[in-house]
Amino acid sequence: VETIRVVEARRPEAIGREVCIRGWVRTRRDSKAGLSFIEVNDGSCLGNLQVLAPASLPNYETVVKHLHTGASIRALGVIQASPAKGQATELLAQQVELLGDADPNTYPLQKKNHTYEFLRTIAHLRPRTNTFGAVTRLRHRVSLSIHQFFHENGFYYIHTPIITSSDCEGAGALFRVTTLDLEHLPRQQGRVDYTQDFFGKPTYLTVSGQLQAEAYACALGKVYTFGPTFRAENSNTTRHLAEFWMVEPEMAFYELADNMNLAEAFLKRIIADALRDCAEDMQFFQERVDPHLLPRLQHVLETPFQRISYTEAVDILSRAGRVWEFPIAWGKDLQSEHERYLAEEHFRAPVILYDYPRTIKPFYMKVNDDGRTVRAMDVLVPGVGEIIGGSQREDRYEVLEERLQEQGLDREAYRWYLDLRRYGSVPHSGFGLGLERTLLFLTGLTNIRDVIPFPRYPGHAEY
Ligand code: ATP
Ligand code: MG
Ligand code: MG
Ligand code: MG
Repeated sequence: VETIRVVEARRPEAIGREVCIRGWVRTRRDSKAGLSFIEVNDGSCLGNLQVLAPASLPNYETVVKHLHTGASIRALGVIQASPAKGQATELLAQQVELLGDADPNTYPLQKKNHTYEFLRTIAHLRPRTNTFGAVTRLRHRVSLSIHQFFHENGFYYIHTPIITSSDCEGAGALFRVTTLDLEHLPRQQGRVDYTQDFFGKPTYLTVSGQLQAEAYACALGKVYTFGPTFRAENSNTTRHLAEFWMVEPEMAFYELADNMNLAEAFLKRIIADALRDCAEDMQFFQERVDPHLLPRLQHVLETPFQRISYTEAVDILSRAGRVWEFPIAWGKDLQSEHERYLAEEHFRAPVILYDYPRTIKPFYMKVNDDGRTVRAMDVLVPGVGEIIGGSQREDRYEVLEERLQEQGLDREAYRWYLDLRRYGSVPHSGFGLGLERTLLFLTGLTNIRDVIPFPRYPGHAEY
């Protein structure tokens, strides 16, 4: 007998097949007529498979009638058309086997809706809920779309280092890497600086793979890196994690407008794939999380992204007639409240802001002719705010050198980076998209801790 997954067993084409399925019991209901209905989920889709267990099963009284929520089972039988609403098929069981019981007195996921806060305290069990099953399948699909999109557009996937000695722009506070050589620790204590000894210099967990990706773009043309990124964010927000996943494409011969076009096409591709291939899960988010989700995403797909300069944005914000928590002034970075106002209320669509003041952006962004602004771009989306940050990179050796100095950075540490301008420099651009911010955007969920399996944030590194 073939073992299939619930997603397959739920399709009408499965009717008539004799199969085996395995999964976890969501609920059990016993009818007076001597029949039990067991809802089984195996994570392959949102829906459960209803298993009909007749009283004639040899272990009906001893096992089936005692199956608890959370227990794992194996059921063998024939798929038949289901008269029940919301499901095409069900399994008429000839055999039901208990694999692992779940004590109903202690199993935390009983049949009721739990708060996200509570589920965060049991991050190892929350994948068994509908919400986290759906988030996980979507996260997988988005990751795949990222690779597909870039592969189809001629990019190479490169792997930038996780341990690095470059602090890349000071994009966020750094996690320092140390060694713990337990065997030698007592002997060497006081003589060895464990923070520096191993590599001969201080090292950190990467806050961005951009600079290294630039080196590869300036050889292979178009590359992207996609991996874990670490920032010791000192604030507790619903949009920041200490460990998150970022995808960073970097393209030679790309000006800022090309960069924007790519970012827009990329985001739209991710949305379209999710709507098509995760339709059931997306419908679930629409019904359970945000009733405006699907129309909003559809609208985003069909609308060209607005593009306005930082200066225009400051103008709009100062005329908005609002009292901002963080006052607006040209030269100050925008805060989440400003970004969300622009995308959610003013434009009601994604908006790309470009040409930011040079004083608030990192040294590597290309300085405009006005001398005051740099070719930065941020993509802001409704519900999230900044989802992408990028720029055209400074490709002039002298200007880059000047910028390093201006920001008080060590020229020697960036010698290799300057080399990229010294030998065969070309205009080039890139951006970073946060995977978790993208998932907030796609699900309507509001806390970034709920779209990553095991979230890391101040005070929290469980598991
Ligand atoms: P923010 O202004 O929201 O702090 P940022 O400007 O510091 O973001 P960038 O350095 O531009 O972020 O990084 C590129 C992208 O990475 C951001 O647009 C965002 O999607 C994501 N990102 C940045 N920091 C975090 C974080 N701490 N947790 C999750 N995603 C993040
Ligand atoms: Mg930040
Ligand atoms: Mg920002
Ligand atoms: Mg940014």
